[in-house]
Amino acid sequence: MNTMTKQPILVVGAGITGVSAALEAAETGCDVILVEREPAIGGRVLRNHNYFPKLCPPACGMEINTRRLERNSRVRVLTNTRVTEANAGADGWSVKLASAPAYVNDRCTGCGECAKVCPAKVPDPHNLGMNETTAIRSPHVDAWPTTYTLDRSACPADCKACVEACKYEAIDLNASAKDETVSASSVVVATGWHPYPLEKLTELGGGELKNVIANVNMERMVAPTGPTEGKILKPSNGEPPKKVAFVQCAGSRDVNHLPYCSAVCCLASLKQAIYVREQLPEAEVTIYYIDRRAPGRNEDVLTRVAEMDGVKLVKGKVGKIEQGQGDGLKLRLEDVEAGQIVETEADMVVLATGMVSNLVNGDLPMNLTKDEDNFGLDSLEQKVIVAGVARRPEDVAACVRDATGAAAKSVIAARRA
Ligand SMILES: Cc1cc2nc3c(=O)[nH]c(=O)nc-3n(C[C@H](O)[C@H](O)[C@H](O)COP(=O)(O)OP(=O)(O)OC[C@H]3O[C@@H](n4cnc5c(N)ncnc54)[C@H](O)[C@@H]3O)c2cc1C
Ligand code: SF4
Ligand code: SF4
Repeated sequence: MNTMTKQPILVVGAGITGVSAALEAAETGCDVILVEREPAIGGRVLRNHNYFPKLCPPACGMEINTRRLERNSRVRVLTNTRVTEANAGADGWSVKLASAPAYVNDRCTGCGECAKVCPAKVPDPHNLGMNETTAIRSPHVDAWPTTYTLDRSACPADCKACVEACKYEAIDLNASAKDETVSASSVVVATGWHPYPLEKLTELGGGELKNVIANVNMERMVAPTGPTEGKILKPSNGEPPKKVAFVQCAGSRDVNHLPYCSAVCCLASLKQAIYVREQLPEAEVTIYYIDRRAPGRNEDVLTRVAEMDGVKLVKGKVGKIEQGQGDGLKLRLEDVEAGQIVETEADMVVLATGMVSNLVNGDLPMNLTKDEDNFGLDSLEQKVIVAGVARRPEDVAACVRDATGAAAKSVIAARRA
């Protein structure tokens, strides 16, 4: 029995923040509904190859959470589900949820026979569209639930190859969408972020020059299940780069793009410099930065990279990237310490693009209080708590701390008259 609150607590977004908040609220005795719009939980963290400060695979931490979820019957997890309407009342919230058709049901064992025969190809969303995958597939190797997902819009008319291949009768190509209305004592918003679009950084060659990629693409490239099976390769010709430049604050702390600091991009580039040097010991790495922000125990990563052979840290703001000789790149920057404008070259550039709040695009139809950068603010009166990157850009450790606070605050808000 739910002993803590009259109605369940609703958590929107099942990234590391939402999953942690849902589990902690449930472990205090509350019923929780955890809503995720994607087919699997875990959010953006699972797109990272390793994560700082320890540089371990993020799937380990998430696996501990999925075990906790499996053991805790208080959390109802709804994937492929969105909030379509939310109305506040005296006792909490009435929320309409829309779940996409379950073309593959929970009889699915993950055997993979359907994907082997599927003729339809789609850009792989887990790998940020850098490669193709089949219309029916596992969302990714660490996906939970493990049920396959199906992109029905990609299927040719009359194809039933997957249904015929499935021994478990787990596929229903005619499944329909489901709507339901739930009551919630309070709501935790943990909707996270998306990367600032590379294409908006035209002055840095984003979206135009093939060998200019974003930090999020680098994470997928270096992952063994990524588009290049873990190899760091120049998109122009599939060869390993010899000179890699990381451009910090690409579009961040810039009134023309994102006026704020995303708090993790310095650490992300330092981590990625380690990836490059470990895989390509001959490659030269230069990190162009305005400030080096590595607070707390993350400073160890900065010290480790600063001491590495083959890595240079240059205090300079890169203002322009253009095509150089062949498929090379020409960078124009202000070298702050030398006090001059200089030109330099690289054969691959990684732009440290920032994090944009998912509350920017109106995907969550709730009347939320937001700051000027579209990050959400708590409203105990409205019984809404905002946590993780939905609240402000931060790393995983801070998100998990935030989630614990959000779980406690959501119970307090739920119990307030
Ligand atoms: C290049 C890069 C590298 C990084 N590397 C590290 C690292 O090494 N170590 C580290 O600590 N941090 C790292 N970070 C930061 C880390 O990714 C974030 O701290 C983390 O993703 C935040 O988790 P979250 O749960 O708040 O948000 P997210 O991971 O974005 O999860 C939000 C979830 O909510 C879902 N959602 C969104 N809107 C809705 C909606 N309307 N309805 C239902 N569901 C919704 C999303 O689908 C998603 O599953 C890195 C960031 C970048 C950019
Ligand atoms: S849908 Fe059927 S064939 Fe496909 S992975 Fe699941 S059980 Fe196997
Ligand atoms: S019906 Fe769709 S998912 Fe199934 S095999 Fe055909 S194309 Fe693939």
